[in-house]
Amino acid sequence: MRENLLLNKVAIVTGGTRGIGRSIVMALAKEGADCIFTYLQNRDLAEPLVDEVNRIGRRALPLQMDVADFENSKIIIEKVKETFGRLDILINNAGIIRDKSLMMMSKDDWSAVIDTDLTGVFNTTRACIITFLKQKSGNIINISSVNGVHPLPGQVNYAAAKAGVIGFTKSLAREVAPYNIRVNAVAPGFIETDMTKELDQGHRKKFLDMIPLGKFGTAEEVAQTVIFLASDKSHYITGQTIQIDGGLGM
Ligand code: NDP
Repeated sequence: MRENLLLNKVAIVTGGTRGIGRSIVMALAKEGADCIFTYLQNRDLAEPLVDEVNRIGRRALPLQMDVADFENSKIIIEKVKETFGRLDILINNAGIIRDKSLMMMSKDDWSAVIDTDLTGVFNTTRACIITFLKQKSGNIINISSVNGVHPLPGQVNYAAAKAGVIGFTKSLAREVAPYNIRVNAVAPGFIETDMTKELDQGHRKKFLDMIPLGKFGTAEEVAQTVIFLASDKSHYITGQTIQIDGGLGM
């Protein structure tokens, strides 16, 4: 039998109730890790996920938390230490879209996406970094997007936030490398989750035609790359952004 890649590690996953975050929580558990996962409002989805994690013999703790709220995000590090006594991996996954042409985009549309998708990464990482620095180990994985590298029209807020996450990842990777802390990002393309469910058939067909592998990806495929980055299999990799996009952004 293959050895678990993350046996007894402890992780934080922001936005764990649905989509990519949910797959990451399950993949962590299957590799032997326990985790705290956050959500914004879907408490009803949190409890069944805890049960699923428990069924494979690991622990998970749900935490309602708005990543855009700096003060609120400090709670997470207290909770993780209180519950599990340690922290090894931080996965900044929570994110939203509010796609519109710039002409139709309100200040609220801009701020909501920047505050959640970019400032949210700052807030949670800021809350956890002292623990990582003190213990001289840690692993941070940020979920960016192919739109942060090769943006599509109609989402200047999202493209700016996700490109910002890549810059954040590189700068922090240099800053904390001497402390044995790695920082990487993944940039998914079109992944089948609630976020892409809203696409009408016309757009879906157009995007499928742009993807060399000819299909949307799954949340599980993103989770597997995150597990690789979270594990010692990638111990010489830092400051990188891995595109998981069926070739869309090459
Ligand atoms: P979903 O919309 O399926 O899930 C989003 C998750 O984030 C939910 O758990 C939600 O909680 C949580 N969340 C949203 N806002 C906040 C907040 N302010 N504070 C805390 N938690 C929050 O998203 P996906 O799984 O599709 O996307 C996950 C990440 O991957 C995002 O960063 C997204 O930008 C990125 N991504 C997704 C792609 C895709 O095609 N799906 C492509 C490229 C990148 P709740 O359930 O309570 O609402």
